[in-house]
Amino acid sequence: MKVTEILKNKKVTRRSVLQGMSAAAAAATLAGCGGSGTKTYFDESDPNLQPPDVGGEYVLGSTPHNCGGGCVSKYYLEEGVVKRIVTDEDREDGDVFAGKAQIRSCQRCRSKVDWWYRNDRLTKPLKQTKERGDITGFVEISWDQAISEIAAKIKGLYTTYGGATFYNCLAPSDRTSQGNTIANLTKLLGSDCSPVQWVLDLSYPQHTYSYFFIDHDGFAQETATSVALRVANNRADIENSDNLVLWAFNPAEARVGPQTAWYITNAREKGVKVTVIDPRFTPTAEAFADDYVGITGTTDAALMLAMLHEMIVNTWDESGNLLADPWLDEAFIRKYVHGFFDDTNPKHYYADISANATAYQVPAGASLSAYIMGTDDRLTNAVMSSEAADYTNMTAGTTVNQGVSIYPDTIGYNVPATDGLYGKTAPCYGQITKTPEWAEKITGVSADKIRELAEMYVKTKVTTWVSGGLQRHTEGDMPVNLGPILSAVTKNIGVEGRSYGFSHEVNYKYPGTMSDKVALNGNNPGSSSIQADSYDMTKLTLQGGELGPYVGNTARTNPLCNVIMMNGLSLPVWIDYVRCAGTSNVSKWNYGRSNTVTTPIKGLFCFGGNFVNQTGNSNEIVDVCTAKDGNGNYNVELILTGDLFFTASSLISDYVLPCAGPGEKWGETCGWLTAEALVMPKITDAPGEALNEFEISRRIAAAWGQEEEFKTVGDGTNTVVNTDYEWSEYNWNKGYSEGQIDQDWDAIQLVGGVNMLEQRPNKVKRIAKEAFITDPAANPLNTMSGKIEAYYQAMLEDYEAAQSSLDTVTTDTDGSSVLKNSGHIYTASTSANSTSRRFVYPIPMYIPAVEAMHADDSHPDLLGLTAKGFIFKKQTGHFNYRAHSTMGNESLLNELYKRNSAGERAYLDPSRSYTDGVWDSDIYEPVYLNPVHASELGVAEGDRVKVSNSRGVLYASVRFTNRMAPYNAGIGDGGWFSVGTDGVDIGGATNSLSSGRPSRIAFGMSMSSDDRLKIEKA
Ligand code: SF4
Repeated sequence: MKVTEILKNKKVTRRSVLQGMSAAAAAATLAGCGGSGTKTYFDESDPNLQPPDVGGEYVLGSTPHNCGGGCVSKYYLEEGVVKRIVTDEDREDGDVFAGKAQIRSCQRCRSKVDWWYRNDRLTKPLKQTKERGDITGFVEISWDQAISEIAAKIKGLYTTYGGATFYNCLAPSDRTSQGNTIANLTKLLGSDCSPVQWVLDLSYPQHTYSYFFIDHDGFAQETATSVALRVANNRADIENSDNLVLWAFNPAEARVGPQTAWYITNAREKGVKVTVIDPRFTPTAEAFADDYVGITGTTDAALMLAMLHEMIVNTWDESGNLLADPWLDEAFIRKYVHGFFDDTNPKHYYADISANATAYQVPAGASLSAYIMGTDDRLTNAVMSSEAADYTNMTAGTTVNQGVSIYPDTIGYNVPATDGLYGKTAPCYGQITKTPEWAEKITGVSADKIRELAEMYVKTKVTTWVSGGLQRHTEGDMPVNLGPILSAVTKNIGVEGRSYGFSHEVNYKYPGTMSDKVALNGNNPGSSSIQADSYDMTKLTLQGGELGPYVGNTARTNPLCNVIMMNGLSLPVWIDYVRCAGTSNVSKWNYGRSNTVTTPIKGLFCFGGNFVNQTGNSNEIVDVCTAKDGNGNYNVELILTGDLFFTASSLISDYVLPCAGPGEKWGETCGWLTAEALVMPKITDAPGEALNEFEISRRIAAAWGQEEEFKTVGDGTNTVVNTDYEWSEYNWNKGYSEGQIDQDWDAIQLVGGVNMLEQRPNKVKRIAKEAFITDPAANPLNTMSGKIEAYYQAMLEDYEAAQSSLDTVTTDTDGSSVLKNSGHIYTASTSANSTSRRFVYPIPMYIPAVEAMHADDSHPDLLGLTAKGFIFKKQTGHFNYRAHSTMGNESLLNELYKRNSAGERAYLDPSRSYTDGVWDSDIYEPVYLNPVHASELGVAEGDRVKVSNSRGVLYASVRFTNRMAPYNAGIGDGGWFSVGTDGVDIGGATNSLSSGRPSRIAFGMSMSSDDRLKIEKA
């Protein structure tokens, strides 16, 4: 039976949508009738099918997930039950630059009728009575019993181990962020019970980390966002650009702000040319690209380096003479970028760092340009211009660079001896000249196209938008570190029409992130004793009081990078802390901080998240979270989850609490880094006994005798909030009182909970780094030099400070164990003239990702994966039929994309029960392959295949498309991990195949495009 037929016959009990709303708000948000069926559904079997007439009242609002959106839908109700959802359609649409856009919703929010009212919703608290992972052990218990037992268990763990024993898994599946109240709640137990400060978020770890060292312009402080990111000019500014480059940026599918794709549409109509650089021919490329550059995944840094090479050779000839029409402006670069050229006596913008200038020098042949040029010596012959000499303490007449590249051709891995990479080296091309022809072989992008791209950056106004895809591989630090430099040296920075980063406007502090900003009795996340445990300050050139206000030096106002990093841990390797903290276990990734965290993680919370699914190597996570000590007790003593549905994470939990989802509780939100502010109204009741997390937290606090304390907001006003509604109202009005939002809570209800954006593009205008470009001496960046850092000594030192030990670095291919050309690099932990090879250098390089490929087969394949038959590379993206794992069970979306073993459409039956388990057999995730592989694999469209590697195996249904490059296997993020009786993941979770190996420098996640696979008919 088709999903639509099941839904048509479905009976849903009446629920009161008015419950929880104030009468005034309810009256205001319920609007007039509409929605009559004038359009035609698409249905292959019934082309004349008409949508049902649904009139009556609707609620206007937003119910986003971790999708990047924050879009507006109309929720039509009959007797309190949502019967139909359509997009924002009443308000005037048109030119977004004139503020005339509707905030239209996608198929996900518009499919929620099935999702909310599925029969397998969790409706009562569950308690595991057998072993973790045994679904037959779950019994339904009362809320009173659940609250009583959970409250006692949490308190007991705190008493025994202290506050640092709790880990709250990232859980942003609905953007009310109420799930984080559980973590805040634990702060009631004691002052030390604040979570470890995770300085690197799970989504953008490489971006976040490098931002602190390379181009920290204060954006994080300005907006108090929990995620520090480099951001481009506001979205409306792209109309001032000649070219918009979308580099691994796919807003037509993976939203980054609800209207971002509409900005691009309108910009093209104004003549802005769009270039899409992506290994997959994405919906964004299809819809918007004037020029599509299909790059081999993970090789972006090679492309960037070759573009920079092209710029250098169009500035100086082979003898070092300045050309007549130079592409690069040496003076501009020395003024704003530290270390693009050698600088043995630099002039920094901070007096105290300048006084220590030799410590932050760029030695001969150590600069980024020296690395790019390899053995080409033109820059050692070129003479520094007199204008450029103003920005260094070197004397005029000095050569541009003082030496050719000192970097070796290979680099090793800082991994334990048990790792297959131990003692091996990958190419880092230190002595190679990074010509377009060199990059063509690696990237698959033609040398002519590389030259064309380079010229575009030099000769036109370019805005570059990036997102997470650029970073998600084991060498993902490199393109992330190079990108801002590429834009900066081409003057695409600090003025209208020119910028680099995430598309954005200034973000609101409170909507959607309230637990971080206006925490209930929570205050902001503090830090544990991580610093003392595991950060070696002696490896930093500047230490202690020299570093700024974070360590008590009020004379400096710039919060320098190392101080931030030493107080935190890398979130993407959280499973390593679970395995190692407080034990003698050695970090799997040789991440020093995992080994030196002394408090064991005993309590694990996850509300509105799915940590088994959404972190690398799902099978390993299950193993670690179900491991026992010698006495037969679980190492992690409490796993507590809350969700709408029974997930893979529920399966290994001790308690599973039924929660209200977006639309079933109150909240407020904004787009990812964008300015739309929206109320998330309570539209319908949650089923059964499901509660929102505010209420769950309140009850636990009450069990501790601390209810009133919990309900008092943590901003010093002593305001008491009693419900999720009051909390949202308080947050919204706080933002309003601080001028972040145009309307107060009552006013926003009158316009359907949507902060009218008609005026916002002008109000949120922001030119990133404008003050810095205007007067860098007066407005230095918050980096060591005050400039953008192409040579980042502080990042290198931070890496070494965070490691408990560094293994011996393996020698270069020629047997050399020192840097080339008598080169040296300064770090505090070695000496001013260290000639040692390293695992991390102070410049961005191109290093092949561990399990990736090159266009010409030159990838080193150090783990011998090709010989083992792992010839496909996983290409995971945020496809548009889920938001991460959220809505992975939505039947209508399932039916569009999933197939059974006969190749027929398949979906997770909305009538099933949660006791049926996480996933049903014979409903398979699509794997997208290029048609060239059909005959070699012996499979046809719709055939079931086994996709496997050393970490796991899953079933999938083959879909052939030319949008996917040969040897790439596209699998969407978030299929529901569910291992069947034959040991195969029937839910198709891409992370059952991910290595979890973190990136080289930031220890950020890699699980997207850096996992080799084998595919076989099954
Ligand atoms: S992008 Fe997100 S908020 Fe917007 S409609 Fe889609 S699922 Fe909903």
